[in-house]
Order: sequence, then structure tokens, then C-alpha cells
Amino acid sequence: MERDRLEQAEAALVCFSHLRWDFVFQRPQHLLTRAARTRPVYYWEEPVLTDGPPALSRRMTPEGVCVIQPLLPMEPDIAVDVARLRALLDGLLIEIADPAPVLWFYTPGALSFAGHLHGRPTVYDCMDELSAFAMADPTLPMQERALLARADVVFTGGASLYAAKQALHRNVHLFASGVDTSHFAPARTGLPEPQDQVAIAHPRAGFFGVIDERIDLPLLAALAASRPDVQFVLIGPTAKIDPATLPQAPNLHYLGPKPYDSLPAYAAHWSAGLMPFALNASTRFISPTKTPEYLAAGLPVVSTPVVDVVAQYEQCAAVCIADAAGFAMALDRALTLPSGWRVQADQMLATMSWDAIWSRMQAQIAVAQRFDVLIVGAGFAGAVLAERLAAGAGQRVLLIDRRSHIGGNAYDCHDDAGLLIHPYGPHIFHTNSQRVLDYLSRFTAWRPYEHRVRAQVRTAHGTDEQLPVPINRTTVERFFGVDLAEDAVAGFLAERATPVAIVRTAAEIVLGAVGPELYRAFFQGYTQKQWGLDPSALDKSVTARVPTRTNDDDRYFLDRFQVMPADGYTHMFGRMLDHPNITVRLSADYDTIDPATYDRLIYTGPIDAYFGYRYGRLPYRSLRFEHTTVAQARVQDVAVINYPDLAVPYTRITEFKTLTGQEHACTSLCTEYPAAEGDPYYPIPRPENAELYRQYQALADATPGVTFVGRLATYKYYNMDQVVAQALSTYDRLVTRLAEAAD
Ligand code: FAD
Ligand code: UDP
Repeated sequence: MERDRLEQAEAALVCFSHLRWDFVFQRPQHLLTRAARTRPVYYWEEPVLTDGPPALSRRMTPEGVCVIQPLLPMEPDIAVDVARLRALLDGLLIEIADPAPVLWFYTPGALSFAGHLHGRPTVYDCMDELSAFAMADPTLPMQERALLARADVVFTGGASLYAAKQALHRNVHLFASGVDTSHFAPARTGLPEPQDQVAIAHPRAGFFGVIDERIDLPLLAALAASRPDVQFVLIGPTAKIDPATLPQAPNLHYLGPKPYDSLPAYAAHWSAGLMPFALNASTRFISPTKTPEYLAAGLPVVSTPVVDVVAQYEQCAAVCIADAAGFAMALDRALTLPSGWRVQADQMLATMSWDAIWSRMQAQIAVAQRFDVLIVGAGFAGAVLAERLAAGAGQRVLLIDRRSHIGGNAYDCHDDAGLLIHPYGPHIFHTNSQRVLDYLSRFTAWRPYEHRVRAQVRTAHGTDEQLPVPINRTTVERFFGVDLAEDAVAGFLAERATPVAIVRTAAEIVLGAVGPELYRAFFQGYTQKQWGLDPSALDKSVTARVPTRTNDDDRYFLDRFQVMPADGYTHMFGRMLDHPNITVRLSADYDTIDPATYDRLIYTGPIDAYFGYRYGRLPYRSLRFEHTTVAQARVQDVAVINYPDLAVPYTRITEFKTLTGQEHACTSLCTEYPAAEGDPYYPIPRPENAELYRQYQALADATPGVTFVGRLATYKYYNMDQVVAQALSTYDRLVTRLAEAAD
């Protein structure tokens, strides 16, 4: 079996149940035992009290199911219990290390501590109307509604439950309980009699199962009194009712709970199987597994008219159904049944094996495990589309990233000193788009932040200074050592500017605006380092990002909205992706995802990689980031100092605290070294690259079922807000298409 498991390992399955594994071997045990043949299975029981600290007790069953029992100290405050259970469960899931286990609920009550998990899929195997049971938690109906809202698939254990739940969920299936025929069949040919039954006379009618409020005790008492020659053997634990209330008579024998393995040996020496169920709310929806088990053991069955028993077995001669008044006579009929009844019963049993049921259930799990869409890349493009498609269009989304975190290049985290840093370089949010701001505001609060940058340059008169970038009046005055009225700056620069007929390149746009001195000091070296190209070889859009000003405004951006996510980017991404329809799988490359598990693809990685570099590689520029923590509160006057000098190997140094507003005794700096090799950070805007991209774009347009979005997939030097806007409009298009397809 271990071999089997290794070869076919499927997602782990975590089952939450109100039943002890050892209580009575029934539906959960039959199904999960089979599940454990191909995947790790954890069976989470109701907690028990302990004198020690909260802990998990665990043991492995011979069938390979890990039975987990939470141990909780006595605690009057339910909220504390729930928090403890949740912490224990989270610990278990870290151990399981399966990012998308199947979550399998027998009790909606478990949602109180497991509701924060997203199962892949979440299964509700509804085998009883639990809320109708005695002493049921009054909040169960509400919890069940929550579970139904959460579940991807619902299994029901009988026709009545199926009818009741069908209207409440889009994906409900009837899986009447099966029978382990081979387990009970030996009872037909004789087994050694268990010691505690030997002394009991014959004929015997037996019952095995939980003895609780579902059993009609007055019926049992009357039956024993009216058939004093029949011995009634009852096997099973007494639950929820006072054992003192059990009827007593010389021919009533309560043998207590017995292991599932020993049931056939008891049944082998009975003449009929009993189901003396009371007909009340607690039995309205039951579909007793005992019926086929008794039949498999070779016993005719006597039952009260439980709705599902009538529906399923009315035509079966071996199941004698009668209400309390006629029960004793039905027992008489069962005890004198003409031979031959087993042939008909066996035909029914043949369709009811647990193996067959489990394999049909597995097929439904596989369907529920499928995703409507796979999104490659958990940066802005991927996360926005995941959130929109899941929350806005009810799509089941698998979002993957080859990195070990969400957020793409905008990912932030705390360094060893506890400083919030941007491992992939400084990310400053700014936008003119109200729509983009409103959208992201659903997932984060903001802190106002206006970005300022200085460049370390040698001025025209030979001094080394840190001057504002973009170039403004201060920059011009200090660079040239002049005093200029605001309305004189444009004229002063115009005198120095190089006339350019048609501006095409990143050099021309700057030369045409400020002339060669400022161009060389501020742009030429920086651009050469950043891109590995002279500005004359790059599209004008590159340096157009940093336009010249004639006033004293020294903000880097002029956008309407200049803010930073109050708790950082990763926190914001976390909230976007916290949706039951979204499964996030990290450290997962696109190559490793089986195409059979999703219908459509959204790809936000490099487009040339997607097409196997068919037309050659699209050039991307990379960077190496050097992060240092300094034991002083502040190092730079502004967040970023640029170093345009070619002799300096880096382009800029950022101090994160200025961006994030964090208070800390230390500070963290990031120095950027441009590189030809490494992660693809920057599409390189120049005509030949745009041409190559157009060829890939044509391939993309001819690839149905795949959408390319984001900075790398559309080869655009986009800021974060532009990627968000692109993803939102992509969503608008996709959702229209989905609606058309649905019509
Ligand atoms: P990305 O964030 O690059 O996400 C793509 C993801 O796809 C990556 O996480 C990658 O690991 C994953 N991926 C790729 N291929 C595969 C695969 N085969 N399988 C699995 N996963 C895959 N913008 C601003 O607005 N302000 C700024 O101040 C700013 N500063 C920046 C500084 C630097 C140094 C850089 C590089 C960019 C900066 N940007 C800034 C731009 C910003 O980073 C991007 O606009 C934004 O992150 C793009 O998001 P995206 O989802 O398109 O791509
Ligand atoms: N640039 C420069 N000197 C500077 C700042 C910018 O030459 O002091 C040029 C450089 O080519 C850079 C481009 O302008 O790549 C765009 O700068 P921006 O700050 O917008 O780059 P980002 O880091 O945001 O991509």
C-alpha cells in the first residue's frame, strides 16, 4: 500500500467528523479507508478534555488513516476553544504541507475553526440531518448554510437528504450508503460464536448501531414483552440517552459496543436484523447502513417505515416493514421467510459496494478539483484577474507562481531587522486612475506619500551635488549656478536645447528639452548603465517618463493619487487572493501544471518563453539588488538618490523607510546594479524589439483559450497602476465572453 501511495499520491484529505473513528464502522470509515489507498487521509475527531496544554493526539489505523484527536483543556469560553482548535489545525496543515488538501466535512460545526481554510475541493458528505438530532447545537442550521455556501460538492447519504439538499446547492449527488459485503458474508456460512452471546437462547433478533434517541424504546419494550420466546440482542454504544431509561426484560440483552470486525460473528448466530427506529424528526432523513449489512450477513430485516428504507427496500421480500403496532408480526414474517429470498437481496447488494461508491465519488472530486482558469504569475496582473474572476464571475481559479511568494515584483517583506523592504527594488504607487485606486482600495488602506529623488551629479561649475530629479528650476539654477525667475527657466533651457526635427529616441527627447550639459549629467550615463544601451538606441518613451519642469515642484510624480499601501503590497495581495474560489500554488512553474486540470489560461510571464522562443528571445533588462541594513535611523534626505555617473556601477540607492513610513532605529537600503542576465524585469523599448514582440503577439492572437496580460506578457514598460488597469479591462472583456458563452 505504501508503494501505491507514493506512486499515485493525490492531494491530502482532511476529514472533520462528529463521530469517533472507533465508534461504529460506518460511512466515513468505509469511504476514508478507500481514500487512504491513494492519498494521505487525516480524520479529525471531536475534541476531548485534557489536563495538559492543547495538543493533538494521533494514531494510524491499520487502513492507513491518521486519526487526529484534539485535546483541549477545560475552558468555559467557546471563543478560546475555537482559537485553540484553529491553531492546532493550522499546525497540522503546515505538517501536511499540501497547499490544497481536500476538505471533507461530516459536521458543519467544524467550520467554526476550519472556516478559514480553502479546500480543493471542499466536500460536504451529508449523511444525517444533524440539526434534527437530540441535543443538537442550535446554530447547526446556520453553520450548515455556511458549509453549503462553501462546499464545491455535496454528497447525500440517502434519497430524503438528497431531496432536501438539492435545492440548496448547485452540485448535490445522491450516494446512498453501501455495504462491505465481503466483511459480512462470512456470517452466512458460520463463524465461531462470541463468548458473551453463547448463553443466549435462540431464536435471536439482533441490532447493531448507536442506541440513542432514534431508537423507539417503547416499541422495543412491547416487542420483547409480546415475543418472550425471541431473544433480542443489542450491540452498540448508548449515546445521549440515559442508560437507565433502556427497557429491561429477560429476553433483552445489551452487549455494549463491539468492534466492527466482530459484528459478523454476532450476526452469524441471529435469525433477523432489527431496525426499531422511532419515526420522528431525528429519523426523517436517515438511510440506515444496517439494512444492507444485515442482508449481506444473511439476515432478513425488520424495520419501521423509515422513509428511505421504504423507498429503497419496499420491493425487497427480505425487508419486512411495519410500524410499531405491526412490528412483532413483521418479525414473525421475517423469522419464517421462505428460502430463496437471498437471491433477490444479493442482486441489490451487488450494486452497493463501497468500492463502487468511492470510485463514483472520486470522479466527482476530480471534476470539482478542476479549475475554470489557470493564472500563471501572482503579480499585479495575475492577482487582479484572479480576484475579479473568482469574486466577480464565480470562476474557480488556480493561481501559480514559480516564486515562493505572491505579489510578483511588487512583493514586500520584513528583513531580519524587522524593516519592511521591497526585495525587487522600490515600488512607489502613483496613478491618475480613479478606477484603479478605487479597486485597490477594497484591499488596502493607504498612506499618503509623495516621492522625491535627487541625482548625485557634477555641476557645470565642477561641484558635486545632489540635485532634484526630474530637472526643475532648482536643478537648473544649482547646476548652472544661476538665479532664474520661474518664467525665465523655459527660455534659459531653450537656449541650451539641441533642435530636433522629429523626436524619436530617448536621447533626442532630453537633448531637445534641456541640451547636452544636463543630458550628459543626468541621463546619458544613467541610461547607459540601466539599459546597457546609449539613449540614442532607445525609444523616447523611456526618458519621457522623467519630464522637465520649470517650477520648483520636486515631486517625482505629478499623478492625482500618490499613496502607498498602509500595510504593504504583500498584505494587499493577500487580501485580494483570500477567496474560496482561489487556490494559490507557489514555487510552481507553469510547466508542471497538467493542462487537463483547467479550461482556460491567463499567462503573465514572458510571452517569448510561452512560445518556446520560437522567433528568438525578446530582450529584457535585469537588475541585481543589494540590500543592506544600517544601524542608524536615517541615511538619505530623500527616498532615492540616483547615480548617473558611468564610473559608479549602480544606478540608484533607495531608503525604504521613507517610502513605507516605518519607525525603526535602523534603516534598510537597496542598491540597484543593472545586469544583462537575470530575472526579466524591464522590456526594452526600441523599434526592433517592438517588431519582434508583434510577431509573438500575432501568435498569441492565434492561440485560443489563452490570454496574455501584464508587463512581461505584453512586453510593455508598464507601471503597477497601468498593469492593474490592463488587467481590469481584460477582465471586462473576458466576463463579456463568458456571459456570451453562457447564453
Ligand atoms: P510581475 O510582477 O513580474 O509578475 C509576473 C509573475 O509571473 C512573477 O512573479 C513571475 O515569477 C511569474 N512567472 C513568470 N513565468 C512563470 C512561469 N512560467 N511559471 C510560474 N510563474 C511564472 N511600478 C510602479 O508603478 N512604481 C514603481 O515604483 C515601480 N518600480 C519598479 C522597480 C523595479 C526595479 C521594477 C523591476 C519594476 C518596477 N515597477 C514599478 C513596475 C512593476 O513592478 C510592474 O508594473 C508590475 O509589478 C507588473 O506586474 P505583472 O503582474 O505584470 O508582472
Ligand atoms: N533616467 C535617467 N536619469 C535619472 C532618472 C531616469 O537617465 O536620473 C532615465 C533612465 O533611462 C530611466 C528612465 O529615465 O530608465 C526612466 O526612469 P524611471 O525612474 O521612470 O525608471 P523606473 O525605475 O521607474 O523604471
